Amino acid sequence: MAEETPLSDNLQRHLQQLGEQFAERLQEELQQLDDLAQQLLRACTPAEQQRCLNSLRNRLHRLAGTAGTFGFVSLGERARQLELQAEQWLATLQQEQQGLQAYIDSLQQLARQQHRPEPAPESQASTLRSTKADREEYCIYILEDEASVGENMRLTLSNFGYHAEHFTHCEALDAAIGRRLPDALIVDVNLQDPQQSGLNYAAALQQRLEAPLPLLVISTCDDFATQLEAVRVGAQGFFTKPVDIPQLENRLERCFAQQQGEPYRVLIIDDDQELAARYSLVLRAANMLVEIIHEPADIFRRMEAFNPEVVLLDVNMPGCTGPELAQIIRFNDDWLRVPIIYLSAETDVARQMSALTMAGDDFVSKPLSDNALVSTVFARAQRARLLSNALARDSLTGLLKHADIKEQVALELERALRSGSRASVVMLDIDHFKKVNDNHGHSAGDSVIRALANLLRQRLRRIDSLGRYGGEEFLAVLPDCQPEQARRIVDEIRERFADLCFMADGAEFSVTLSAGIASTDVNSGPGELLERADRALYAAKHDGRNLVRLAD
Ligand code: GH3
Ligand code: MG
Ligand code: MG
Repeated sequence: MAEETPLSDNLQRHLQQLGEQFAERLQEELQQLDDLAQQLLRACTPAEQQRCLNSLRNRLHRLAGTAGTFGFVSLGERARQLELQAEQWLATLQQEQQGLQAYIDSLQQLARQQHRPEPAPESQASTLRSTKADREEYCIYILEDEASVGENMRLTLSNFGYHAEHFTHCEALDAAIGRRLPDALIVDVNLQDPQQSGLNYAAALQQRLEAPLPLLVISTCDDFATQLEAVRVGAQGFFTKPVDIPQLENRLERCFAQQQGEPYRVLIIDDDQELAARYSLVLRAANMLVEIIHEPADIFRRMEAFNPEVVLLDVNMPGCTGPELAQIIRFNDDWLRVPIIYLSAETDVARQMSALTMAGDDFVSKPLSDNALVSTVFARAQRARLLSNALARDSLTGLLKHADIKEQVALELERALRSGSRASVVMLDIDHFKKVNDNHGHSAGDSVIRALANLLRQRLRRIDSLGRYGGEEFLAVLPDCQPEQARRIVDEIRERFADLCFMADGAEFSVTLSAGIASTDVNSGPGELLERADRALYAAKHDGRNLVRLAD
């Protein structure tokens, strides 16, 4: 479960410092506005008035965008009104002079007033949460009144490496939740007690929690109304009985993917240093990596070195506008996948549109709350990474493709030779897989492949690399792992895989795998290493399958 970030105090302090810096700068800013108001008052010709109003509009525009973010909400709103009025005056000055005095009065009133930040409840930084930083054992609770079904699910999920607990009654589940909040919840809709439904229980629970739990729903009926109800209590998956557990596990894996993944990388380009610093703090507190550039010309160097997944771009900057910079980014095909979000004080929809038609993907108006910033960036980054993975990775399993995992073998071999440690290379192949396809259909075969991929991902370490080498063949590289140690790990995976129970058209079946392991030594190159692992795999097949063999 996501926990309150330990950075929280630190973050609060930093945000406060930035707020103080802004408040100081605000005094100068207001003084400038006051000066401009006086100049406007003294201006004798329409040309002079025009010049003053232009400067005024630009300054008010910036203030309108920044003030709200630092908590000066009503100041920001009034600056916005005055900006729009300045805009109107610019259009009508030649014919119209009446009312200008009143405008100047309002300006001076704004500039000479004391302003204090107002806490905006929704944008409190303390409500920001960080995600689980490292992969730990995920805890799953299952509410299922059919004891054997629930127990079977618990066992299978344990084989996948989750900590799963099964409950037949809401009361027992409640007690467990009181002791420890799970990372995900699986509930059966239809419970024996007619007074209770798993969905009602889940709905009440989600209400009680500060952040909703990932929820999967199982049911005997798959009608529209039940699925709609499931969606309304926040379900992220819906499965009809008898449940294909590996498929359910696949969905769980997807729910956790965002927590397991590397932090998103965000590049901010804004000439306003305090505002950029504030955005950066807020995004960092939400577990993202952030870099800031103030100078648009630095863009090439930073894009290359940092490889951001999202670019946040200010629209009005001296020297180069946001849309211009976005077009420069789009000149380079390597960066086509990176979404560009404009952060701007621009509220004019026509102008927003025109910026977007030049380049860029989204427009977010300043001021925006911390939570809105995090969710906008998060959604974009998540989608960008999904797309990018879909292009780079095997579509069925999400693992590295043939060429990439082979490259990984060469890399790890080199590293092992340099450091004097040993890496092990594992070739795995599903036994009699043709029969799975023949007996249960190709899509059942696909879910077996996916289940093995998930099992390997769960069981191997973060530093291990994993790829789909061919149809039902997998290749894993385990750095700093002696052959005996590798054999133990792979043998455990073999056993757990054999224990998985698959389902197709109501029929249950299980499948086994064979594996060959070769470890690095000074005499073999990457090609020989793979050949030795392949020969060991062949020996395992030859000796009867469902076996793990070490290369000679
Ligand atoms: P062995 O124990 O000797 O490995 O026997 P096997 O049947 O597993 O091996 P074989 O290499 O003869 O057959 C592998 C089969 O895997 C053939 C192919 O149709 C099937 N296959 C390959 N890729 C996929 C896939 O993506 N999905 C499905 N469902 N089947 C696949
Ligand atoms: Mg096979
Ligand atoms: Mg094969």
